[in-house]
Amino acid sequence: MRFLSTLVLAASALYASAAPAYDLANSTTTTLAERDLLERAPGAITTCKNRGEFALTFDDGPYWGNKPAKTLSDNGGRGTFFLNGNNWGCIYDRADQIIAAYKAGHTIGSHTWSHPDIAKLSEAQLHKQLDLVEGAFKKILGIKPRLFRPPYGSYNDRALKVLQQRGYTVVNWNFDSGDTAGKSASQIISAYNKLAYPNPYIALNHETKSVTVDQVIPKVVPMLKAKGYKLVTVDKCLGISPYQSVGAAGKRDKTWTCSGTLAPGQA
Ligand SMILES: [Zn+2]
Repeated sequence: MRFLSTLVLAASALYASAAPAYDLANSTTTTLAERDLLERAPGAITTCKNRGEFALTFDDGPYWGNKPAKTLSDNGGRGTFFLNGNNWGCIYDRADQIIAAYKAGHTIGSHTWSHPDIAKLSEAQLHKQLDLVEGAFKKILGIKPRLFRPPYGSYNDRALKVLQQRGYTVVNWNFDSGDTAGKSASQIISAYNKLAYPNPYIALNHETKSVTVDQVIPKVVPMLKAKGYKLVTVDKCLGISPYQSVGAAGKRDKTWTCSGTLAPGQA
């Protein structure tokens, strides 16, 4: 019995100390395409890999114009925006904001069409969510997204399998600003201030919270920069390409509408 538990301990220690699949800092042996494959689902990414890199992410938009994107750009940083198709508004009604952020070098990722908990969806329902967002991104930007943030950070094996088949990298976080939990600006800023440089982070924020876009981000961006952090997109800090494909955007026509699609929260 004692021998067995020693063996189990030794085995788990071995597992815990197993070398990562690759080391980005010494990544001369892996190509970008190989890294893209390695970073696909299953399993969610929760942090940047390199010391001194910080990825601010914003969910549930498009909503408050381009404020967080502009704040980042003004400070030499870039952010990652996980957009819904039809949640706080219709994606097609705010296409100009998305195009501006994309052209400024921010990364656009998928956060589903109508913000359901994907762990509760059938495969067919998840495919529909992904199809609708991919369709909108193709029309508005000409891209196919690579990065996916599950609503509520929730997923299961069935969902991961679908996401993997479709080439997505699933991105959660290792720091939650707490903006959806009703924290005040000073509480959130103080939580950001406790994060110790150069530990790498992927931080969860919401574009739909005025406390975030009007009070927190304008303070936190220069603060993180002053600590020495590089404010980068998630793809950049993982060393992968931001999109599965990049082509020409479409022109607005009568198909640029959310009517007849899934309503917010609907699966
Ligand atoms: Zn969300």
